Amino acid sequence: MYVAEDISRRAGGKTILDGVSLALPPGTVTVLVGPNGAGKSTLLRIMAGGLPPSRGRVLLHGRDLAAWRPAELAGIRSVLSQSTGLAFGFRVEDVVRMGLPRHGVAEPPAALVAWGLEVVGLADAAGRDCTTLSGGEQQRVHLARVLVQLKATPADGRARYLFLDEPTTGLDLAHQLLLLDIARRHARAGGGVLAVLHDLNLAAQVADTIVALDGGRVVAEGTPEAVITDRLLTQVYGVDLRVNQASARVFVLPVAG
Ligand code: ADP
Ligand code: MG
Repeated sequence: MYVAEDISRRAGGKTILDGVSLALPPGTVTVLVGPNGAGKSTLLRIMAGGLPPSRGRVLLHGRDLAAWRPAELAGIRSVLSQSTGLAFGFRVEDVVRMGLPRHGVAEPPAALVAWGLEVVGLADAAGRDCTTLSGGEQQRVHLARVLVQLKATPADGRARYLFLDEPTTGLDLAHQLLLLDIARRHARAGGGVLAVLHDLNLAAQVADTIVALDGGRVVAEGTPEAVITDRLLTQVYGVDLRVNQASARVFVLPVAG
Protein backbone atom coordinates (compact mmCIF):
# COMPACT_ATOMS: atom_id res chain seq x y z
CA MET A 1 0.00 0.00 0.00
CA TYR A 2 1.11 3.52 -0.83
CA VAL A 3 -0.25 6.24 1.44
CA ALA A 4 0.16 10.02 1.58
CA GLU A 5 -0.82 11.48 4.93
CA ASP A 6 -1.76 15.14 5.21
CA ILE A 7 0.74 16.36 2.64
CA SER A 8 1.41 20.07 2.31
CA ARG A 9 4.00 21.76 0.19
CA ARG A 10 5.02 25.39 0.14
CA ALA A 11 7.32 26.90 -2.47
CA GLY A 12 8.05 30.46 -3.50
CA GLY A 13 5.90 31.83 -0.66
CA LYS A 14 2.90 29.94 -2.03
CA THR A 15 0.96 26.94 -0.77
CA ILE A 16 1.00 24.44 -3.61
CA LEU A 17 -0.51 21.50 -1.72
CA ASP A 18 -2.65 21.87 1.36
CA GLY A 19 -3.40 18.85 3.55
CA VAL A 20 -3.72 16.18 0.87
CA SER A 21 -4.23 12.57 1.94
CA LEU A 22 -4.34 9.80 -0.61
CA ALA A 23 -4.13 6.00 -0.59
CA LEU A 24 -3.12 3.93 -3.61
CA PRO A 25 -4.31 0.38 -2.98
CA PRO A 26 -2.57 -2.38 -4.97
CA GLY A 27 -4.68 -3.59 -7.87
CA THR A 28 -6.21 -0.20 -8.62
CA VAL A 29 -5.74 2.70 -11.01
CA THR A 30 -6.03 6.14 -9.43
CA VAL A 31 -6.30 9.14 -11.75
CA LEU A 32 -5.52 12.70 -10.70
CA VAL A 33 -7.44 15.39 -12.53
CA GLY A 34 -7.70 19.15 -12.12
CA PRO A 35 -6.92 22.42 -13.85
CA ASN A 36 -3.40 23.60 -14.72
CA GLY A 37 -1.54 24.61 -11.57
CA ALA A 38 -3.80 22.56 -9.26
CA GLY A 39 -0.77 20.76 -7.79
CA LYS A 40 -1.09 17.41 -9.61
CA SER A 41 2.54 17.10 -10.69
CA THR A 42 3.74 18.27 -7.30
CA LEU A 43 1.63 15.62 -5.54
CA LEU A 44 2.80 12.91 -7.93
CA ARG A 45 6.45 13.88 -7.41
CA ILE A 46 6.07 13.91 -3.62
CA MET A 47 4.38 10.50 -3.64
CA ALA A 48 7.08 9.11 -5.93
CA GLY A 49 9.80 10.39 -3.60
CA GLY A 50 11.20 13.00 -5.98
CA LEU A 51 10.29 15.96 -3.78
CA PRO A 52 9.96 16.19 0.01
CA PRO A 53 6.69 17.45 1.48
CA SER A 54 6.81 20.53 3.73
CA ARG A 55 4.41 18.75 6.05
CA GLY A 56 2.99 15.24 6.27
CA ARG A 57 4.54 11.97 5.20
CA VAL A 58 4.37 9.29 2.56
CA LEU A 59 4.35 5.63 3.57
CA LEU A 60 5.21 2.83 1.17
CA HIS A 61 4.49 -0.66 2.45
CA GLY A 62 4.38 0.76 5.97
CA ARG A 63 7.73 2.55 5.80
CA ASP A 64 8.34 6.28 5.47
CA LEU A 65 9.49 7.02 1.94
CA ALA A 66 12.46 8.96 3.33
CA ALA A 67 13.77 5.71 4.86
CA TRP A 68 13.93 3.82 1.56
CA ARG A 69 17.27 3.52 -0.23
CA PRO A 70 17.01 4.96 -3.77
CA ALA A 71 18.06 1.67 -5.38
CA GLU A 72 15.43 -0.21 -3.39
CA LEU A 73 12.77 2.34 -4.28
CA ALA A 74 13.69 2.07 -7.96
CA GLY A 75 12.63 -1.56 -7.96
CA ILE A 76 9.22 -0.85 -6.51
CA ARG A 77 8.02 2.33 -8.17
CA SER A 78 8.85 4.02 -11.45
CA VAL A 79 7.95 7.45 -12.70
CA LEU A 80 7.12 8.83 -16.12
CA SER A 81 7.48 12.59 -15.59
CA GLN A 82 5.56 15.28 -17.38
CA SER A 83 8.50 16.57 -19.39
CA THR A 84 10.97 13.93 -20.40
CA GLY A 85 13.72 15.76 -22.23
CA LEU A 86 15.19 14.71 -25.53
CA ALA A 87 17.96 12.18 -25.18
CA PHE A 88 20.40 13.54 -27.74
CA GLY A 89 22.63 11.00 -29.38
CA PHE A 90 20.99 8.00 -27.74
CA ARG A 91 19.51 5.10 -29.55
CA VAL A 92 16.00 4.01 -28.56
CA GLU A 93 17.25 0.83 -26.88
CA ASP A 94 19.86 2.84 -24.91
CA VAL A 95 17.12 5.03 -23.41
CA VAL A 96 15.09 1.97 -22.40
CA ARG A 97 18.19 0.35 -20.92
CA MET A 98 18.58 3.40 -18.63
CA GLY A 99 15.64 1.99 -16.67
CA LEU A 100 17.65 -1.07 -15.65
CA PRO A 101 19.36 -1.26 -12.26
CA ARG A 102 23.12 -1.75 -12.29
CA HIS A 103 22.99 -4.98 -10.31
CA GLY A 104 20.61 -7.83 -9.70
CA VAL A 105 18.63 -7.67 -12.91
CA ALA A 106 15.91 -10.35 -13.02
CA GLU A 107 16.33 -11.26 -16.70
CA PRO A 108 18.96 -10.72 -19.39
CA PRO A 109 19.05 -6.95 -20.08
CA ALA A 110 18.61 -7.38 -23.84
CA ALA A 111 15.47 -9.47 -23.29
CA LEU A 112 14.02 -6.88 -20.92
CA VAL A 113 14.68 -4.02 -23.34
CA ALA A 114 13.13 -6.01 -26.20
CA TRP A 115 10.09 -6.79 -24.02
CA GLY A 116 9.62 -3.08 -23.14
CA LEU A 117 9.80 -1.95 -26.76
CA GLU A 118 7.41 -4.71 -27.79
CA VAL A 119 4.85 -3.62 -25.17
CA VAL A 120 4.83 -0.03 -26.46
CA GLY A 121 4.82 -1.09 -30.11
CA LEU A 122 8.33 0.10 -30.95
CA ALA A 123 10.18 -3.17 -31.46
CA ASP A 124 11.23 -2.07 -34.95
CA ALA A 125 12.73 1.19 -33.69
CA ALA A 126 15.29 -0.29 -31.26
CA GLY A 127 18.35 0.86 -33.18
CA ARG A 128 17.07 4.29 -34.22
CA ASP A 129 18.41 7.63 -32.97
CA CYS A 130 15.86 8.85 -30.43
CA THR A 131 15.83 12.38 -31.86
CA THR A 132 14.47 11.07 -35.17
CA LEU A 133 11.29 9.82 -33.49
CA SER A 134 8.05 11.80 -33.25
CA GLY A 135 7.06 13.31 -29.90
CA GLY A 136 4.54 10.56 -29.27
CA GLU A 137 7.04 7.85 -30.18
CA GLN A 138 9.59 9.38 -27.79
CA GLN A 139 6.94 9.35 -25.08
CA ARG A 140 6.45 5.62 -25.70
CA VAL A 141 10.23 5.03 -25.46
CA HIS A 142 10.16 6.61 -22.00
CA LEU A 143 7.13 4.52 -21.09
CA ALA A 144 9.07 1.40 -22.08
CA ARG A 145 11.92 2.61 -19.85
CA VAL A 146 9.72 2.92 -16.75
CA LEU A 147 8.01 -0.44 -17.39
CA VAL A 148 11.37 -2.16 -17.79
CA GLN A 149 12.57 -0.53 -14.57
CA LEU A 150 9.89 -2.35 -12.57
CA LYS A 151 10.17 -5.65 -14.43
CA ALA A 152 13.94 -5.74 -13.94
CA THR A 153 13.72 -6.28 -10.20
CA PRO A 154 13.01 -9.86 -9.08
CA ALA A 155 9.47 -10.24 -7.76
CA ASP A 156 9.27 -10.36 -3.98
CA GLY A 157 5.51 -10.36 -3.58
CA ARG A 158 5.28 -6.62 -2.88
CA ALA A 159 3.05 -4.48 -5.07
CA ARG A 160 4.89 -2.21 -7.52
CA TYR A 161 3.71 1.23 -8.51
CA LEU A 162 3.62 3.16 -11.74
CA PHE A 163 3.49 6.96 -11.58
CA LEU A 164 2.49 8.56 -14.86
CA ASP A 165 2.30 12.34 -15.32
CA GLU A 166 0.23 13.18 -18.41
CA PRO A 167 1.40 10.00 -20.14
CA THR A 168 -0.95 10.34 -23.11
CA THR A 169 0.43 13.71 -24.21
CA GLY A 170 1.40 13.45 -27.86
CA LEU A 171 -0.05 9.98 -28.29
CA ASP A 172 -2.49 9.20 -31.08
CA LEU A 173 -5.82 7.63 -30.20
CA ALA A 174 -4.66 4.03 -30.62
CA HIS A 175 -1.65 4.60 -28.38
CA GLN A 176 -3.72 6.46 -25.79
CA LEU A 177 -5.83 3.31 -25.55
CA LEU A 178 -2.67 1.18 -25.44
CA LEU A 179 -1.45 3.30 -22.52
CA LEU A 180 -4.73 2.78 -20.67
CA ASP A 181 -4.48 -0.94 -21.34
CA ILE A 182 -0.94 -1.05 -19.95
CA ALA A 183 -2.09 0.77 -16.80
CA ARG A 184 -5.07 -1.57 -16.36
CA ARG A 185 -2.97 -4.69 -16.89
CA HIS A 186 -0.42 -3.45 -14.35
CA ALA A 187 -3.23 -3.04 -11.81
CA ARG A 188 -4.83 -6.38 -12.67
CA ALA A 189 -1.48 -8.04 -12.02
CA GLY A 190 -1.59 -6.60 -8.48
CA GLY A 191 0.32 -3.35 -9.00
CA GLY A 192 -0.79 0.19 -8.27
CA VAL A 193 -1.05 3.13 -10.67
CA LEU A 194 -1.25 6.88 -10.12
CA ALA A 195 -1.75 8.80 -13.37
CA VAL A 196 -2.38 12.46 -14.13
CA LEU A 197 -4.75 12.74 -17.08
CA HIS A 198 -6.38 15.81 -18.61
CA ASP A 199 -8.80 13.87 -20.78
CA LEU A 200 -11.78 13.17 -18.54
CA ASN A 201 -13.14 10.59 -20.96
CA LEU A 202 -9.91 8.60 -20.79
CA ALA A 203 -9.85 9.09 -17.02
CA ALA A 204 -13.36 7.67 -16.72
CA GLN A 205 -12.39 4.65 -18.81
CA VAL A 206 -9.27 3.68 -16.89
CA ALA A 207 -9.78 4.83 -13.31
CA ASP A 208 -11.04 2.86 -10.35
CA THR A 209 -10.76 6.08 -8.37
CA ILE A 210 -10.56 9.66 -9.59
CA VAL A 211 -9.12 12.34 -7.34
CA ALA A 212 -9.83 15.94 -8.35
CA LEU A 213 -7.37 18.59 -7.17
CA ASP A 214 -8.02 22.31 -7.23
CA GLY A 215 -5.82 24.93 -5.61
CA GLY A 216 -3.74 22.28 -3.87
CA ARG A 217 -6.69 20.59 -2.18
CA VAL A 218 -8.69 17.45 -2.92
CA VAL A 219 -12.13 18.68 -3.97
CA ALA A 220 -13.64 15.35 -5.03
CA GLU A 221 -12.68 11.70 -4.76
CA GLY A 222 -14.43 8.50 -5.78
CA THR A 223 -15.60 6.52 -8.79
CA PRO A 224 -15.62 8.25 -12.19
CA GLU A 225 -19.42 8.53 -11.95
CA ALA A 226 -19.20 10.19 -8.56
CA VAL A 227 -16.44 12.67 -9.46
CA ILE A 228 -17.05 13.65 -13.08
CA THR A 229 -20.18 15.67 -12.62
CA ASP A 230 -21.63 18.86 -14.02
CA ARG A 231 -20.60 20.51 -10.77
CA LEU A 232 -16.93 19.52 -11.24
CA LEU A 233 -16.92 20.88 -14.77
CA THR A 234 -18.52 24.15 -13.75
CA GLN A 235 -16.89 24.83 -10.40
CA VAL A 236 -13.42 23.36 -10.88
CA TYR A 237 -12.85 23.85 -14.59
CA GLY A 238 -15.14 26.84 -15.05
CA VAL A 239 -16.57 25.51 -18.30
CA ASP A 240 -20.14 25.16 -19.46
CA LEU A 241 -20.19 21.43 -20.23
CA ARG A 242 -22.58 18.64 -19.34
CA VAL A 243 -21.70 15.11 -18.37
CA ASN A 244 -23.47 12.39 -20.29
CA GLN A 245 -24.50 9.57 -17.97
CA ALA A 246 -26.46 7.55 -20.52
CA SER A 247 -23.72 5.04 -21.24
CA ALA A 248 -22.04 2.59 -18.89
CA ARG A 249 -19.21 5.08 -18.43
CA VAL A 250 -19.61 8.82 -18.05
CA PHE A 251 -18.41 10.97 -20.89
CA VAL A 252 -18.16 14.67 -21.47
CA LEU A 253 -19.39 16.40 -24.59
CA PRO A 254 -18.80 20.05 -25.44
CA VAL A 255 -22.04 22.01 -25.41
CA ALA A 256 -22.21 24.96 -27.80
CA GLY A 257 -23.73 28.16 -26.53
P1 ADP B 1 -0.25 20.86 -12.16
O1 ADP B 1 0.61 19.68 -12.43
O2 ADP B 1 -1.53 20.51 -11.49
O3 ADP B 1 -0.50 21.69 -13.38
P2 ADP B 1 1.97 21.73 -10.49
O4 ADP B 1 2.01 20.73 -9.40
O5 ADP B 1 3.01 21.59 -11.55
O6 ADP B 1 0.51 21.81 -11.12
O7 ADP B 1 2.13 23.18 -9.86
C1 ADP B 1 1.17 23.71 -8.96
C2 ADP B 1 1.45 25.19 -8.74
O8 ADP B 1 2.61 25.37 -7.98
C3 ADP B 1 1.64 25.98 -10.03
O9 ADP B 1 0.97 27.20 -9.91
C4 ADP B 1 3.13 26.17 -10.10
O10 ADP B 1 3.46 27.34 -10.79
C5 ADP B 1 3.51 26.25 -8.64
N1 ADP B 1 4.87 25.79 -8.35
C6 ADP B 1 5.36 24.55 -8.51
N2 ADP B 1 6.64 24.47 -8.10
C7 ADP B 1 6.96 25.71 -7.65
C8 ADP B 1 8.15 26.29 -7.10
N3 ADP B 1 9.26 25.57 -6.92
N4 ADP B 1 8.12 27.61 -6.76
C9 ADP B 1 6.99 28.34 -6.93
N5 ADP B 1 5.86 27.84 -7.43
C10 ADP B 1 5.84 26.56 -7.80
MG1 MG C 1 1.49 18.94 -14.13
